[in-house]
Amino acid sequence: MSSYTRQEVATHNSAKSAWIIVDSIVYDITNGGELLILEHAGKDATEIFYAFHRQDVLQKYQRLAIGSITNEKQQIIQNTPGSISKVPYAEPSYLQELMLGFHSPYFNESHKKFRQAVRHFVQTEILPEATAFDEAGKPASKEMFKKMGEFGLLAARMGPGPHLKAFKLPGGVKPEEFDYFHEQIAHEEVCILGLPGYQDSIGTGMVIGLPPVMNFARKEVRDKVVREVLTGQKTISLAISEPNAGSDVAAIATTAVKTPDGKHYIVNGVKKWITNGGFSDYFSTAVLTGKGHGGISMLLIERTEGVETKGIKTSYSSSAGTAYITFENVKVPVENLLGKEGGGFPVIMFNFNHERWFIVAGMVAASRKVVEECFKWANQRKVFGKSLLEQPVIRNKLAHMVSQVESTNNWLENITYQMTKMSYKEAAIKLGGPIALLKLLSTRVAHNVADEACQIFGGRGITKTGMGRYVEGFQRTYKFGAILGGSEEIMADLGIRQAMRNFPNARL
Ligand SMILES: Cc1cc2nc3c(=O)[nH]c(=O)nc-3n(C[C@H](O)[C@H](O)[C@H](O)COP(=O)(O)OP(=O)(O)OC[C@H]3O[C@@H](n4cnc5c(N)ncnc54)[C@H](O)[C@@H]3O)c2cc1C
Repeated sequence: MSSYTRQEVATHNSAKSAWIIVDSIVYDITNGGELLILEHAGKDATEIFYAFHRQDVLQKYQRLAIGSITNEKQQIIQNTPGSISKVPYAEPSYLQELMLGFHSPYFNESHKKFRQAVRHFVQTEILPEATAFDEAGKPASKEMFKKMGEFGLLAARMGPGPHLKAFKLPGGVKPEEFDYFHEQIAHEEVCILGLPGYQDSIGTGMVIGLPPVMNFARKEVRDKVVREVLTGQKTISLAISEPNAGSDVAAIATTAVKTPDGKHYIVNGVKKWITNGGFSDYFSTAVLTGKGHGGISMLLIERTEGVETKGIKTSYSSSAGTAYITFENVKVPVENLLGKEGGGFPVIMFNFNHERWFIVAGMVAASRKVVEECFKWANQRKVFGKSLLEQPVIRNKLAHMVSQVESTNNWLENITYQMTKMSYKEAAIKLGGPIALLKLLSTRVAHNVADEACQIFGGRGITKTGMGRYVEGFQRTYKFGAILGGSEEIMADLGIRQAMRNFPNARL
C-alpha cells in the first residue's frame, strides 16, 4: 500500500477526487457508495465514520483503501475472525485481558483452543450465510449442515460421549479430553451470532431432539440416526408441545396405537411450535400409548406419509423453521420407541435438564455480547459534547448489566462442573432444580440487560440495521428463552419444589 502525508490527502477534497482518512488508512471514496461522506473529503473522518457505521462496513470496503498515512499506525483494534475481545467483561473472566492473571478451576488450554477454532469457523463459514438466510427467512442450507458435520461442530454440540470418536473435533481437541465445558463453549459461540432465528436453524432441533435417541433408542436405530444427524445429512427436532399441552406436558393428546400384528404404531395428532420442524427429517415425539403419566411414550417419527408441517410466524426469522405438525395415520415401526412403552415421561424430564442448560449457556453468552456492544457504543457515542461513558447514569447501567451477567455466568460454570462429575441419570435427578432456577435467573437477567441496552443505544436499539442491530435483535427475541423449554413461572416453581423434596426437619 502507498504512503501519503495528511497534506496530500487534503488536496483530494472534491467530488471529482474524494479521499478520507479513517484510523490512518486512506480511502478513495470518489465512487464509494455507503462510505461517501463528501463533506469530509480530504480530512480525517475517523470519528464521523464510527459515529455512523460499524467496523464491518469498513471491512466491506477494503477495496477502496489506497494507502496509509506516513509514519502512523492504526489505533483501533481490527476485528479478526476468532479473536478474543479486549473490551472489559466481553469474555468470560479467564479470557479477559482486563483480568489477566485470573485463574479458573474449570478451563484449560484445550478449552481455549476449542473456543478460538469454533469462533473462527462461526465467523468465517457460518456468518455470511447466516446474515443472508436470516433476512430471507430461509433455513440453513444442507451444505452448511454438512460443513458443520465435517468440522465436528454438530458432534461437539451433543456433549461428551462415544459419538465423538467418529469425529475430528474443533481445535484438535481429543474425544477423551472433551467435556461439558467444551460443549458449553460450542453453544455460546453459535448463540452470539446475533441472528437468533438462523442460530436456532443450525441445530437447536438437534441439541434438544437427538438426546432421547442417543440415550434411549435401540442400538441399530441409534447408530443410524446419530450418524446421519451428526454428519449433517439429516435433521431432527423435538416434538412435545401441542396446542393444549405446553407447560402441562401430561396433557398431550397425540395417540400411538399398536397395529394388531404388534409391529407398528399408528400415530394421530398435532404438535405446535416445533423448532426446526419445518425442515426436519426426524421428530422425537411425545405420544400417548396409554392413560396418565404412565401412558406417555417417546417415539422417533420419520418424515413420511401422513406427516405434514406448516410454518408458524414468530418474532424471529422463519429461518428457525418453527412449525405446526400434523400426524395423520402415520405408520411407525415399534423399533423406533425411545425407552420403554409408557416410560416417556422420565425420558422427557431427563432431556429437559440438558435443553435448559443449553438455553442458559446461549442466553448468558448473548447477554454478555450485548454488554460488549454497549461498552463500545457508550465509549464512541458523543452526546452533549462527551461520550456516553462519561455520564454516571450510563456507567450505572453498565454496572448493573455486568454484575448480573458475571454472577449468572459463575453459577452456570458451577452447574457445568457438576455435570462433568455426575452421570446423565444422576445429573437429571440432582440438577433439575438448580438448572431450572438458573434458567429463571438467566432470562430475568436477559430482560434487564435488554432493557438497559435499549436505553443506552437509544433509537438504534430499536433499529434493525446498523449500530444497534445486535441489541435490536436481542431485545426482540430474548423472551424466547423465557418461554421455551419451560417458562419462568414453571422454572421457579420446579426449582423450589425440588428443594422442598429434601427439606430437613429444621426449625427456626
Ligand atoms: C418459538 C417457539 C419454539 C418452540 N419450540 C418447541 C420445540 O422445539 N419443541 C416443543 O416441544 N415445544 C416447543 N415450544 C413450546 C414451548 O415449550 C411452550 O410454548 C412452553 O412450554 C409454554 O407452553 P405454552 O406456550 O402452551 O404456555 P402455557 O402452558 O399455556 O402457559 C401460559 C403462561 O401461564 C404460565 N403458567 C402455566 N402454568 C402455570 C402454573 N402452574 N403456575 C403459574 N403459571 C403458570 C406459564 O408460565 C406461561 O407464562 C416452542 C414454543 C415457541 C413459542
